[in-house]
Amino acid sequence: MGNCCIYCGRGEADGIELSESDIIPDGLTNQTIKNKNVCRIDHNNKFSNMFESKVIEELAFIRNHLNIKGKGNKYPSYKAKYLIEDRTYSAKNVISKSTTLGKKIFRDDTGRQLLGPINQLIRMKNFHEDNIKCVDLNNIEIEEQVEIDISIFYSIEIKRLMAKIAYEWHCKLEKINTCLDIYSDIIQFILTGIEESENELVSLITDEKVCLEIKELSRLGSHLLIRNKINDSLYVYISFFGLAAYQINLGNILEQGKCYFFSQELPLEGKGNVFDYKIFCFENLMSDFQNFEYKTRLVMITNKLAEMESTKTSNHKKFLESVKNNLFMLSFSSELNVKELKRFVHEFNIDGIKLKRSNKDTWFWFNLFCIYICGKFLDENACLLDIRNLVYEKVSQTSNVDITDELFESIKKQILDDQDYLEWLRKGANIVRGF
Ligand SMILES: [Zn+2]
Repeated sequence: MGNCCIYCGRGEADGIELSESDIIPDGLTNQTIKNKNVCRIDHNNKFSNMFESKVIEELAFIRNHLNIKGKGNKYPSYKAKYLIEDRTYSAKNVISKSTTLGKKIFRDDTGRQLLGPINQLIRMKNFHEDNIKCVDLNNIEIEEQVEIDISIFYSIEIKRLMAKIAYEWHCKLEKINTCLDIYSDIIQFILTGIEESENELVSLITDEKVCLEIKELSRLGSHLLIRNKINDSLYVYISFFGLAAYQINLGNILEQGKCYFFSQELPLEGKGNVFDYKIFCFENLMSDFQNFEYKTRLVMITNKLAEMESTKTSNHKKFLESVKNNLFMLSFSSELNVKELKRFVHEFNIDGIKLKRSNKDTWFWFNLFCIYICGKFLDENACLLDIRNLVYEKVSQTSNVDITDELFESIKKQILDDQDYLEWLRKGANIVRGF
């Protein structure tokens, strides 16, 4: 018998076309991970409207911040407010602060003040020269505020999405090519959002220690998937962007006595860690010392997850506190990657940049610092790894950089105190363009 859909069991014999489903929708990752046994219309295309697009849309700012392009190969746009000289301006369709402010006309929240490029303003009706004030956007403090509706993180849509990711990933790992009865509960939940069984199928993980450890283990913006069996049940744990973690109960195990442990990290860029428990034996450990720490930490986390009684969904409060915290950290964190640096050089026009001490944007200064040290200490043939090593040496001893106030001030000082900073920035920008 040929391959059939893992949701409905139909296949070619029923006149149904199978398609490749993105296990994690492509708007939520830069990686490709597919399951090819999903029927095209009902259980691939329709999922988008049922639950996927809602999650993708609500997370536009996060996706933009993490350099994940959406439809038409463009960065997703988001809504933001800008606090400039005691006035608040609302902006829709922001793609980058650097390409939004000073390019279009915005009205402030009172409706009485406009902000925009002078050549556009003078063409407006009722324009009076007496009422204008010139501001240099490089020279004033601008605060960007982005509101994210964090209820999305415990919405039914995200739970169905997590169930879908877990189920399709598991079927891929086990080479399951049809719809099996033992998965009827999870399939029902993905298709309808209704839980038939008494046990909650998708739960929020609220244990702070475990969440923190998962986050530390994976790179910024990664998705980490872990599959494990506890007693006779199969569980998948998903750390979603390192912002929130979920436990998905897939139901009874397929075969007794089989090892079901498997984990896979899907980072924003490059290869992630794949870890199969079956090959985690002493001999392999000795030949693969590089991942020794990763593996032992992962095993510890998995053991804790197994012991943990996952908190019921009704306990949103603790879960949301941790999501809020993670969101806050994410907006101040940076992980060096080629996409981010290239985009930064392009959007901020580094060659002619004017820097001001009053600029408080940590993300901006961190990226600028990377370009600066790249120009100052590296030659033209440098690669991303060289920059990474430099950052590691100069500012942070971990791969995820959490920018503290102290670090922020020191980065700023190092650049501004250097008379030749513009020269180093230009050189650094050229190196990055060549990546
Ligand atoms: Zn189907």
